[in-house]
Formats: sequence, structure tokens, C-alpha cells
Amino acid sequence: MGGNSDMKLIDENGIRIDGRKVDELRPIKIEAGVLKSADGSAYVEIGKNKVLAAVYGPRECHPRHMQNPAKAIVQCKYNMISFSVSDRKRPGPDRRSVEISKLISEAMEYVVFTENYPRTSIDVYIEVLQANAGTRCAGLTAAAVALADAGIPMKDIVPAVAVGKVNDQVVLDLNKEEDNYGQADLPIAMIPRTGEVLLMQMDGHLTQAEFDKALEMGVKACHEIYELQKDALRRRYAIVNGETEEEPKEPAEDVNEEA
Ligand code: ADP
Repeated sequence: MGGNSDMKLIDENGIRIDGRKVDELRPIKIEAGVLKSADGSAYVEIGKNKVLAAVYGPRECHPRHMQNPAKAIVQCKYNMISFSVSDRKRPGPDRRSVEISKLISEAMEYVVFTENYPRTSIDVYIEVLQANAGTRCAGLTAAAVALADAGIPMKDIVPAVAVGKVNDQVVLDLNKEEDNYGQADLPIAMIPRTGEVLLMQMDGHLTQAEFDKALEMGVKACHEIYELQKDALRRRYAIVNGETEEEPKEPAEDVNEEA
């Protein structure tokens, strides 16, 4: 977020450098159940972002002192792999990935019916294979589909998108150049069914009117992404005319019943 408003990122016809209108999302592709070894998984492409999410659990929580006798804990680990950006990224966790992991974990813990699985951990691994701004939103979008693919009961599927300000205009779904040289970045995640906002961060400045416009744009886009998430899950279970060809997976065995 350089705030360099001199750099021309939107032309006089309101078209952005990648050919989009200000309220247009990048092309989105969502696929559920892409990994055999995980209990649930999803692959998401949003523009040039490529993100993979894998869910393991609910499974016994280790170390045991982290167990909650009343509910499951949801642990999301966001990681950008070293070749995901043009300069090689130093492998391993850094402040940014720890912060994003915490944000996504808290958002997901709110939507999962954690009380169904006391003492367990639901582990979600988010790997960014290619990054082009908006990876926390793409990661969260993928994590929600992967959790649903794992058969874990949730209040709703959660979509996320960033809205921002570029050349004094409110724009949807910022790409890397807009994120770098724009004036504001506002990632949003929400529960479409209830309208609750699960994640909201702001980098840069927006006036109240711009914020209201950005929120409206973001909520509308979240509903579009939500439909694509549901389509991916429908395709996964090949629901054709109400008939399920493949039964959804049962959630992983409740480790408490064994104990
Ligand atoms: P988000 O990806 O959610 O927009 P940021 O605003 O922190 O999160 O990052 C914006 C973009 O900057 C990322 O999507 C990525 O393309 C790039 N980026 C982030 N961290 C690094 C890094 N360590 N090295 C190179 N590029 C990075």
C-alpha cells in the first residue's frame, strides 16, 4: 500500500490495468476435494492467486494442554511457499503469516460447530502456491470449502474478498499493482446467511462514504464468491436433479467416542 496516487492504475473509461471495471472480480476457479490424503480439501484461483487448503480432523488435539473439554479448536496455518512470489520468499513462518493464520483460525472457529467435537483439533493447512494480492481472502475462501468437503458442520460457507481505493476510486478485489500503489486495502470475510462480518482489516485511509461504498461492493462480491463455493461443493458430490452420486464424506471419527 504505497499510497502513490500519481501512478495511473485506472484509465479515463474507468478500466483498470488488467482490463476490469472498478466493481469487477478477477476470474475465479474453485475446486473441492482435490487431495486424496486429506479429510477435506480445496483449490482456489482468484486471478493469479493459486491457493490450496487441506483439512485434517476433527482429531485428538496435541499437545493435550491445548484441548478444550467443551469444544474443538480450529487451527489454521497460512503459508506462502518460497516460489509463490517473484523474489524467493524465505521459507517458514514470519510475523505476517502468524497474523493471517490467527485471523483465519478465529473466523473459522466462529463458523464451525466446535461444540460437536470436544477435546479435538481441526487443522487447516493453507498453502499459497502463487501470490498476487488478496491471498488471505483466497486462503479463507479455500479453507471454508475444504472444511465443508471434510463434512464438518458449519453455520455457513465463508467467502472473502478485498476492496480498496485506487486513484481516488473505490475498487473491488485489488491485484498486486493496485495493492502496492493503491491508497487503501480492506479485506472482508462474511457469513452470507446472516450478514455477519467475520474479518475486516484496513490498510490506508477511506472516508465514511468510501467505506460504505467499499463495504457494499465487498458484500455483493462475497455473495458471488459464495455461489461459486457452493457450486464447487455441488460438483464434488455430483448432485444432479437432487440425486447424489457420491455420498458426502462422514466427518473424521470422533476420537472422544473411542476414549
Ligand atoms: P494479501 O495477500 O492478503 O493481500 P498482503 O497485503 O500482506 O496480503 O500482501 C499483498 C501481496 O504482497 C501478496 O499477495 C504477495 O503477492 C505480496 N507479498 C506478501 N508478502 C511477500 C513477501 N514476503 N515477499 C514477496 N511478496 C510478498
